[in-house]
Amino acid sequence: MAAPPSVTLSPSQLARLAGIGEERTAGVGDVLYRVGDQRYPFIAILEGEVAIVDAAGEEIVRHGASGFLGELNLLSGQTVFVTAVVAEPLRYIAVDRDALRALLWEDGPLSELLLSTFISRREALQQVQGLGLEIVGPQSSEPTLRMVEFARWNRLPFTWRDPAHDEAAAKLIAGLDAAELPLVRLPGGVERQGPSTGEILRLLGVGRELAPREEVDLLVVGAGPAGLGAAVYGASEGLDTLVVEGTALGGQAGSSRRIENYLGFPAGISGAELTSRAVTQAFKFDARTATPFRAESLEEFEDRYLVRLEGDHVVVARTVLLATGAQYRRLPVDGLRDYEGISAFYAAGPPEAQRCGASRVGVVGGGNSAGQAAVWLARGGALVTLLHRRADLHETMSDYLIRELDRYGVVVRDKSEIAALHGEDGQLESVTLKSGGQLPLSFLFFFLGALPCTEWLDGAVARDENGFILTGAAAGADHLLETSLPGVFAAGDVRSGSTKRCATAVGEGAMAVQLVHARLAASRARVA
Ligand SMILES: Cc1cc2nc3c(=O)[nH]c(=O)nc-3n(C[C@H](O)[C@H](O)[C@H](O)COP(=O)(O)OP(=O)(O)OC[C@H]3O[C@@H](n4cnc5c(N)ncnc54)[C@H](O)[C@@H]3O)c2cc1C
Repeated sequence: MAAPPSVTLSPSQLARLAGIGEERTAGVGDVLYRVGDQRYPFIAILEGEVAIVDAAGEEIVRHGASGFLGELNLLSGQTVFVTAVVAEPLRYIAVDRDALRALLWEDGPLSELLLSTFISRREALQQVQGLGLEIVGPQSSEPTLRMVEFARWNRLPFTWRDPAHDEAAAKLIAGLDAAELPLVRLPGGVERQGPSTGEILRLLGVGRELAPREEVDLLVVGAGPAGLGAAVYGASEGLDTLVVEGTALGGQAGSSRRIENYLGFPAGISGAELTSRAVTQAFKFDARTATPFRAESLEEFEDRYLVRLEGDHVVVARTVLLATGAQYRRLPVDGLRDYEGISAFYAAGPPEAQRCGASRVGVVGGGNSAGQAAVWLARGGALVTLLHRRADLHETMSDYLIRELDRYGVVVRDKSEIAALHGEDGQLESVTLKSGGQLPLSFLFFFLGALPCTEWLDGAVARDENGFILTGAAAGADHLLETSLPGVFAAGDVRSGSTKRCATAVGEGAMAVQLVHARLAASRARVA
């Protein structure tokens, strides 16, 4: 079982926390907070020890003097996934969450220490079996697979119980019809049958409500690096900005194991950390984010735009930024669905890496994301083979990553495409290559490029032959990021011709805000 790391505070940091918190004591066996609680204070330990245990009472980690408790949910307000029990007589400082937030804006080093610890603790908790959400449903149930994928994208600790391999799970859902699946059990005992993803997020305290009709200056659709970049710049410059996101704040960057090329992080930064920081920054500037709300259509409405969201919500906006990114491609082989989520994945996160340790793993794709995943899995102990279509990996992958593949013993197979998958009950055993050979592989990871998330726009804005949104001269627009509709902009991966990189997406999001200001000023001048 992975132990979330224990980190200590300096005497001066403890003194600062004492200044805004309350000193308290607790006896052995006292519970400071428990699984399912809606909130808890930040706790810095002066003397004594606290054991962090799961719902079954199994100890995960212990924190002692100068240590502190908490993980990401302390800042996000999400339901608590673990219980904190006093193990040695305790003297501690309790700091209310809002007071802590305020201190974090002022104290950079403390903010750095807490945030990076909270993020790495969340990663560690994701690897602890039996923690967090329990999703009960078979692989044949689409809504079950959607819920599993959703939990993964939102980096929630979860356990998927498939009745095909789990008798107790089969009993739990006996008698439920397809519409009542999956059965989702939340920390603290709340259960829901066939819930929407939005319902689960709101029950966990993460999702936000929207009024049935909202009116804003800038509506940002999609909260990846481009959308969050626009949110931070828009909100910090006083624009009335609303961001709607269909899945998880942070976008696909969150699934990158290590982003090495983002300016300002010479040692690299994990996608989860970069996006968690961006989300926290957006909250700091009071950007309004609403999730999960998928945009379903865009139309002109008087001198503004009307965007319909799932769940009968509408947003009327003076300007719109389309930042919906692109989605991974699936491999066109029979039966792939049977393996997805069990032994075939589209992102290499901590839970997957843990499952794959010491197994034979195939990573499919020739781009940098495939290279990063292959290195990460190999570092975790897997025996990794990278399969790609072209004759030379240098055509598609950065040199530094090719050197890393070599360093971590990743076998690279050029001109290799998968023709068939073989296995049982979703567990892969081998693959047949188009060239005829067979490879024993227990897990596959796909990194095959992306399709733009633009189908919902229908014909509302001009798009290129691959569906990416045209902007600037190509769309007959005046400005670089403007689409064929004046006042509607596009930024990031969804934009035709954009460089598919985090830094570009953030930069375009920021630039779009300047164009929005210009557009709003011009329409105010017209009215005057
Ligand atoms: C595994 C992996 C590794 C990567 N590694 C790197 C790297 O090392 N360096 C680097 O620079 N880049 C890397 N990238 C690329 C980088 O992540 C993207 O370029 C970046 O995320 C693009 O940002 P974006 O905001 O344009 O789109 P996204 O991050 O895709 O965000 C778009 C958001 O819009 C939401 N959305 C879609 N449709 C709707 C709708 N209808 N309504 C509401 N919301 C919607 C999506 O749910 C998503 O959250 C990597 C990508 C992957 C997948």
